[in-house]
Amino acid sequence: MDADAIVIGAGAAGLSAAGALGADGLRVVVLEARERVGGRILSRPTDRRAIAIELGPEFVHGAAPETTAVLRAIGGTAVESGGRSWTRGADGMLHPENDTELDRAMELVRSAPAHPGDVSVDAYLCERARDPALAGAIAAARAFVEGFDAADPTLASLHGIAHEWRSAVDEFSTRPIGGYAPIVAELRRRCDAADVRVRLATVVTQVAYGTGGVAVRAADGSIVRARGAVVTVPIGVLHRAPDDRGIRFDPPLPAATARALAGIAMGDVAKVVLRFHAPFWELLEDGRYRDAAFFRDPNGPFQAYWTQMPLHGESVVAWLGGPRAACALARGRDALIAEALHGFGALLGAPEAARRAFADGTLHDWSADPYARGAYSYLRVGAGRARTALTEPVAGTLWFAGEATVDDGSSGTVDGAIASGLRAAAQVRAALGAQSGRKA
Ligand SMILES: Cc1cc2nc3c(=O)[nH]c(=O)nc-3n(C[C@H](O)[C@H](O)[C@H](O)COP(=O)(O)OP(=O)(O)OC[C@H]3O[C@@H](n4cnc5c(N)ncnc54)[C@H](O)[C@@H]3O)c2cc1C
Repeated sequence: MDADAIVIGAGAAGLSAAGALGADGLRVVVLEARERVGGRILSRPTDRRAIAIELGPEFVHGAAPETTAVLRAIGGTAVESGGRSWTRGADGMLHPENDTELDRAMELVRSAPAHPGDVSVDAYLCERARDPALAGAIAAARAFVEGFDAADPTLASLHGIAHEWRSAVDEFSTRPIGGYAPIVAELRRRCDAADVRVRLATVVTQVAYGTGGVAVRAADGSIVRARGAVVTVPIGVLHRAPDDRGIRFDPPLPAATARALAGIAMGDVAKVVLRFHAPFWELLEDGRYRDAAFFRDPNGPFQAYWTQMPLHGESVVAWLGGPRAACALARGRDALIAEALHGFGALLGAPEAARRAFADGTLHDWSADPYARGAYSYLRVGAGRARTALTEPVAGTLWFAGEATVDDGSSGTVDGAIASGLRAAAQVRAALGAQSGRKA
């Protein structure tokens, strides 16, 4: 055996699992396909220490106990995102946002009666559309499912979305000062401190497993053997066929695990970060948008734009989630950046001012990324407890972790990913701990 445990993937889940197992004295090897750790966390520093450009996660959603604990350990803080929200009305003009529509949308989905066998969010909303008084709430619910959950309402499980919305995860959000990079650095530091070996640029192609242990093969032909493995690669990678840059499991995964994987979909997101030489929007219309945090544009090319408020920064994020994002991404990076710039300028009635102030735009296409295959997961109709099913060990030597494996409403978040890594580490420890080859 080369190690007690192999962890596949060095995102938030993998680093958390590996650090915890290493701290317990287990010999751990992490195999990561990319040449960096962090996975879907991808931060670029800016001249402003407090503000990072985040091409992946940016917010900490809800109380997020695991993320908060890491932040506390490094003396970091998070600031609640806040400021005024604006929305484009039917007259094409920006108006202060009417929160009650979103509250009604939340209530509509949270209070959905249990449908035997589950239905899609879309089917449920269509059924409720018989009541014309609900038109606004239904439109807002659909927009939120696409925008926040990155889900296709015709495929997304009503049960799954209602369960998530009933959790407090989307009640409020904060941003870590300095972005997510210090959090990744701390998770990596914990691995280093525990003598965990992190092998970068190592693409896993095959996992052979049985009750006696695991043998993990990488694309370079190397094989690492251990008594168990934690698989944290995104669900989109697990959906791929082995000959299409997926992972071959030998023997094939049990039917219950395969069914659970099939019940979870990857959502698409187009997130464009526009950087300006100066926050020109703060000067428009006598400072009307000076403290603007969110601009919603329900029928525009992007669903929302947001600033860094309460910090006054120079960047704006253009965001599109769900099926429209998949189509938009197909148009390519440069086209999307141009559309985001034009869309934001046009929304403010100031396309020329936006163009003049524009510095550059950045986008990472997570759906085309072979090591992500999408932004984050959602449940398909009828998937039931698929996320929980994935937490069941396979053959006593294989465990799954990652954002898709949490069922408390924090799937699709960094906090859920960290929690899943810690959960898997506890399972591995319980299974292997007693006879582990402790480090000297
Ligand atoms: C655009 C965007 C915005 C988001 N916004 C937020 C937000 O504001 N707040 C929030 O909390 N969350 C947000 N998220 C979700 C959050 O990023 C994820 O839930 C979290 O980072 C997932 O962590 P993970 O460890 O489960 O997966 P990952 O970070 O994807 O880690 C999995 C690792 O496995 C590696 N891997 C893949 N295939 C292989 C292979 N064959 N061999 C070896 N290694 C492999 C990958 O390279 C990766 O490093 C966002 C995500 C995106 C894409």
